[in-house]
Amino acid sequence: MTSLEYKLHFDRIVERIEKARLRVNDHHIVKIVAASKYVDSEAIRALYAIGQRAFGENKVQDLVAKTEALDDLPIEWHFIGTLQKNKINHLLSCNPHLLHSIDSIELAHALNERLERDGKTLRALVQVNSAREESKSGFTPEEFSDKYAQIAQECPRLHLQGIMSIGAYVDDPAVIRKSFETTRHLFETLPNATVCSMGMSGDFELAIECGSNMVRLGSLLFPR
Ligand SMILES: *Cc1c(COP(=O)(O)O)cnc(C)c1O
Repeated sequence: MTSLEYKLHFDRIVERIEKARLRVNDHHIVKIVAASKYVDSEAIRALYAIGQRAFGENKVQDLVAKTEALDDLPIEWHFIGTLQKNKINHLLSCNPHLLHSIDSIELAHALNERLERDGKTLRALVQVNSAREESKSGFTPEEFSDKYAQIAQECPRLHLQGIMSIGAYVDDPAVIRKSFETTRHLFETLPNATVCSMGMSGDFELAIECGSNMVRLGSLLFPR
């Protein structure tokens, strides 16, 4: 793709998001996080040049490498993958804008402890396994609200902003919709939450219609 073709490709995705968000209401604003795990720093630069500012990685070592390689750009970095406790130091050294994936009380405590020691805070979302899939991290919908409140209370260095979920990994749109609606209903009960992060390349329009205000797009934004 030439850079002009790439810009047109991006514009078409933005138009699809625009149409989906207007089906919610005029004031429903959706943020794009470009999931850049499939691509190298040069591809990130190309998308940055078109205007994209928020990028998300799902492996700590990739986040470290890319934040270093792209140090000259004011990119807003998100961490969207499962975080292992032994990677907390490396994650925090990158000063990410938002961690999407708190999936256990132990992880929250470990993060809080390290942040306290460093005199830092971190914006974070708590992950819900809304479709109750074995392969996915996150709290069950039943336990979610209590765990969120517990983390908010016990981990003051974590500034909780809301919820993250991955849509059901099935073909049936009704089942995917149900997983998004479960997430949205939980989001609505959270005190002071502003971020509902759900929707990927295959299901972002449905996610937006179900109330998502942050979509994480990978394969669609970085065509091969
Ligand atoms: C890779 C990834 C995405 C983006 O996936 P695509 O289907 O390529 O858009 C979104 N969220 C998470 C957590 C990811 O790891």
